[in-house]
Amino acid sequence: LAPSMASSSKEGPARRVAVVGGGVSGLAAAHKLESQGLKVTLFETEGRTGGKIRSATEDGLIWDEGANTMTETEAEVGRLIDDLGLREKQQFPISQNKRYIAKNGRPELIPSNPIALIKSNFLSPQSKFRVILEPFLWRHSGMKNNTSKVSDESSHESVGGFFERHFGKEVVDYLIDPFVSGTSAGDPDSLSMRHAFPEMWDLENKFGSIIVGAIRSRFSHKSKKGGNEKPLEKKKNQRGSFSFQGGMQTLTDTLCMALGKDNLKLNSKVLSLSFNDNGGSVSNNWLISYAAQGPTCKGSLQDQSYDAVIMTAPISNVQEMKFLKRRKPFVLDFLPKVTYLPLSLIITSFKKEQIKRPLQGFGVLVPSKEQANGLKTIGTLFSSMMFPDRAPNDQYLYTTFVGGSRNRDLAGASTDELKEIVVSNMRKLLGAEGQPVFLKHVYWSKAFPLYGHDYDLVLKSIEKMEKNLPGFFYAGNHRGGLSVGKAIVSGFKAADLVLSYLNSTDEEGIK
Ligand code: FAD
Repeated sequence: LAPSMASSSKEGPARRVAVVGGGVSGLAAAHKLESQGLKVTLFETEGRTGGKIRSATEDGLIWDEGANTMTETEAEVGRLIDDLGLREKQQFPISQNKRYIAKNGRPELIPSNPIALIKSNFLSPQSKFRVILEPFLWRHSGMKNNTSKVSDESSHESVGGFFERHFGKEVVDYLIDPFVSGTSAGDPDSLSMRHAFPEMWDLENKFGSIIVGAIRSRFSHKSKKGGNEKPLEKKKNQRGSFSFQGGMQTLTDTLCMALGKDNLKLNSKVLSLSFNDNGGSVSNNWLISYAAQGPTCKGSLQDQSYDAVIMTAPISNVQEMKFLKRRKPFVLDFLPKVTYLPLSLIITSFKKEQIKRPLQGFGVLVPSKEQANGLKTIGTLFSSMMFPDRAPNDQYLYTTFVGGSRNRDLAGASTDELKEIVVSNMRKLLGAEGQPVFLKHVYWSKAFPLYGHDYDLVLKSIEKMEKNLPGFFYAGNHRGGLSVGKAIVSGFKAADLVLSYLNSTDEEGIK
């Protein structure tokens, strides 16, 4: 593949691809294209790459202002880490399986597997009974398959509705609610099951019972691999969440370095994209105009042409761009408004002696219901318990999240107001005394797109853009999942589509 990709004709110049957006999906896409011999230019509005991955350091503390950890559930992610030589910098949290949920105002250890859940007192006897009965009550699948009417209605089912059907209300309130707000800032009622948890949605379609489905798919996954998986590889994938020395930005910085300065246009906001066919060839069909905003070129407008484009900017940013197709406006009025969830992060450190009940582990999540007990945060990560090198020896570092769909207004509150809320939570949950010795407030007005009930419309509109604009591909966390791993996979997928587009148009010309 590589030799035919490297040039537009046997002797011609290398294929040129523009990637818009320097978050992890754009960087991953650019990395893949470059490794296939294409000439890539990555445009990024800001003066840095990383997007929602951003690490910072001050006063001997290291923290993350966006994604804090990731997983390598997806095989492509593991390969990327190997490829970038990042294994040595990978950091696994100490006691990461110790995760807590606030219940009645106190942190309770979450049982780490279904058997431990049944043995524990985390759920009431009635809820435990429902969990035990789930495989029997949902033994027969096909509820969604049997009638198209049910199928249509259930395709809009909320995450809360889905889990309540299987496990009851308490499981939704004390396990699902904190989990979804901790991973997407959403809430069980607003999130669409089909879009937020497509794998689990499929399990119900196939097996009826989620528990049976999870067990059977685990076994079939194992037997498909047929024991060929190397033990080391197996171990790596099972080690759960991780970060890197210096924080998550080590990943995007390494990707950025691999891409090279010459291929990177920072402070370059893409304003318009224009498609024109050049007599059946794909060469230079895309003209990209961008505003270069640097100390040397304040707001100057510049144009460059490319054979294909990968767009990874959030949809709200795409809606601000102008598109032209064969010199006529290509109006994006079919792109629906995406709902975004705002989030504030409060990073604090306390002297160790100020924390009377320090907990080892990953962190504590707060269910919405616990707001009645005065807990107004989404949760707190025990940052320096996970990664002791992130704080001086005499301090504990914490990262607390406030806002999301349960508390949109609070996300935008003042630093003083948020400090009070966070310190009060820390007092209740960890016995924190006095004021933090360090505090930093980070606000994301659009932290996560909400995969809501109408998200189908967003996905269909993205497909429509791709269908109508030859050589245009969309990637990023608005499609296929919110996690860092899923964003990487999405970038890789778009890169593969560009490669096959250029390959096929090399042979057939543009249609
Ligand atoms: P982005 O990172 O949003 O990148 C898009 C880029 O496009 C941005 O850099 C933007 O500046 C640029 N751009 C926009 N418009 C233009 C334009 N006109 N021209 C040029 N460039 C443009 N995931 C996890 O797996 N684990 C976590 O612990 C986790 N925690 C999170 C915590 C927070 C607070 C947030 C906000 C997210 C978290 N996530 C987490 C989610 C994860 O970080 C994101 O989904 C992922 O990083 C998104 O990557 P992306 O490339 O799709 O988008």
